[in-house]
Amino acid sequence: MTDQPEFVFELRTCGWAERAWPPDGEPRPAIVSRQLGTRDRRWDTVVVEVDPEAFAERSKFGTRRLDSDLLHVVRHAPAEWAWYRDALPNPDYPWRYVREAVHRAADRGILERRRDGNRIEIRRKWAYPGWVRRIVAVENKPDLDASAARVLADQLERDVALGLADEVWLATAATGQRVEPALLEDLPPEAGIVVLDHDADEADVLWHPRSLALDDPGTRIRERPSGGSRDRSAARFEYVEREWKREKRLEIAERAYERGWRSYADTMRPDCRHFRLRRDGRTLLPWCGAHGRCQTSTECSGSCSAFEPEPPAWRSGDWPIEGGPGKGVRLLLERRRSRRRPG
Ligand code: SF4
Repeated sequence: MTDQPEFVFELRTCGWAERAWPPDGEPRPAIVSRQLGTRDRRWDTVVVEVDPEAFAERSKFGTRRLDSDLLHVVRHAPAEWAWYRDALPNPDYPWRYVREAVHRAADRGILERRRDGNRIEIRRKWAYPGWVRRIVAVENKPDLDASAARVLADQLERDVALGLADEVWLATAATGQRVEPALLEDLPPEAGIVVLDHDADEADVLWHPRSLALDDPGTRIRERPSGGSRDRSAARFEYVEREWKREKRLEIAERAYERGWRSYADTMRPDCRHFRLRRDGRTLLPWCGAHGRCQTSTECSGSCSAFEPEPPAWRSGDWPIEGGPGKGVRLLLERRRSRRRPG
């Protein structure tokens, strides 16, 4: 199987990971999201393995993510009333941002707040649970030619050096060749390789990944020599603290919790009359009736030349879902996302 658009392959990979994680061994409860990471690096597919009991506790904090400021407050909120500046660790940013986060958390109903004179006191409602067990980054490359493999090898080496995820994988499409080309490429040996069949129903592990050193400081590679015979430049890199990694992982997990992988509809135009959801194997994929194929999220926008808004009649009494088919698509995807979250 080749020539799959990367966007479609990414959605198929997400669907497969949600149904069948891990690629081998005993099933492990996990949530799946896509296009998450840090400012410097986004992973295509992110699998967050969870502790089921702690995951159920996490649902008390609602379906929206807790950003880094909210996490700072909620994770350290005391069991008894205390002035927020006494209770929380010193932030490395101004206290006024912490105060704003206290108000946001209280307004969301995930923290108790009261005034004592000029002072704002806080008390936790629930302890924030340690729900994240492991974070796995999957890079999707359906057609792995030599030049794609070079770029990918560089990215995976950076992921391995940073050690922000527990594991990194390459997911690629089965070619049917006796030896899958991915095995012949010069990829870092720490990265696993999994091959998916056309509908992403079946997966074969070609290479098992190594667990990365989460508890060690990471190395962020900023620049590296091109490797040509005339290139005498030195690599440029910086160290990354363990604490930074711990916090970043939790922020990524929180975003994965909020978004899941079906949030693609948020950046597409399901309100276009040509937009459909179509079953592809066991995964629902977006489909464009005007183009006669799966559309990408980039092309499915208000600037698409074939965009046509749903006729107003579709949104009125005749349609079975109030708000019309576009709203129905969003509801359906939202319902499927919700099924993966407790509560
Ligand atoms: S016609 Fe354009 S906007 Fe409408 S569904 Fe197709 S790609 Fe999206």
